[in-house]
Amino acid sequence: MGRLDELWRRTVENLVREGLIKSDAVRRAFLKYPRYLFVEKRYRAYAHVDEPLPIPAGQTVSAPHMVAIMLELAGLERGMNVLEVGTGSGWNAALVTELVKTDVYTIERIPELVEFARRNLERAGVESVHVILGDGSRGFPPKAPYDRILVTAGAPEVPRPLVEQLKPGGKLIIPVGGYHLWQELLEVIKRPDGSVEVKNRGGVAFVPLIGEYGWRQ
Ligand code: SAM
Repeated sequence: MGRLDELWRRTVENLVREGLIKSDAVRRAFLKYPRYLFVEKRYRAYAHVDEPLPIPAGQTVSAPHMVAIMLELAGLERGMNVLEVGTGSGWNAALVTELVKTDVYTIERIPELVEFARRNLERAGVESVHVILGDGSRGFPPKAPYDRILVTAGAPEVPRPLVEQLKPGGKLIIPVGGYHLWQELLEVIKRPDGSVEVKNRGGVAFVPLIGEYGWRQ
């Protein structure tokens, strides 16, 4: 096992010990797709550190603990139809497809990052993630309705189209709050009767969701 793999294994075991990775499925997905596969060469040596890291176009790949929290909240199961908004490096999408064992759609607004994520996913051997260029604050109607929508950028409020594109019983996980680096992580559950329940899962810090139903640029 190489040095990067050994460092990564320790990070994963720490997250398990801290109770942030709860399920064996998430642990196995993390071990299969180490974060160092999804960052530029110069950041690989830092990929095991539990903090966000820079990716091109001034964006970030989230800290491992944040990704673990969101994936555990999502409760992903085999066969679920999942949309990710905010592809970034492609790392989270790789973890999601490993958990649902089926195709995953992820949408990114910055063309440079669409290319970056596609390259990373190809290098990691992931063929079941489809990276789409577009404004994910509008969701992605062609593949709706979704069992889960995971948003990895902070919105001023819950985008209406994302709730509309959830199946009854489906769940949206989204940071909502300030423009930069202060939001609350919301779990938005669409009940079978179509009404919505919102649970606040605490303070988080994401880059902004920029788009028609996000922050306007
Ligand atoms: N999930 C990513 C990963 O695994 O690397 C990290 C995402 S990064 C914290 C947030 C991403 O959301 C950025 O790449 C940003 O360009 C993207 N983004 C912001 N607004 C967006 C929008 N309206 N539609 C799609 N992507 C958006």
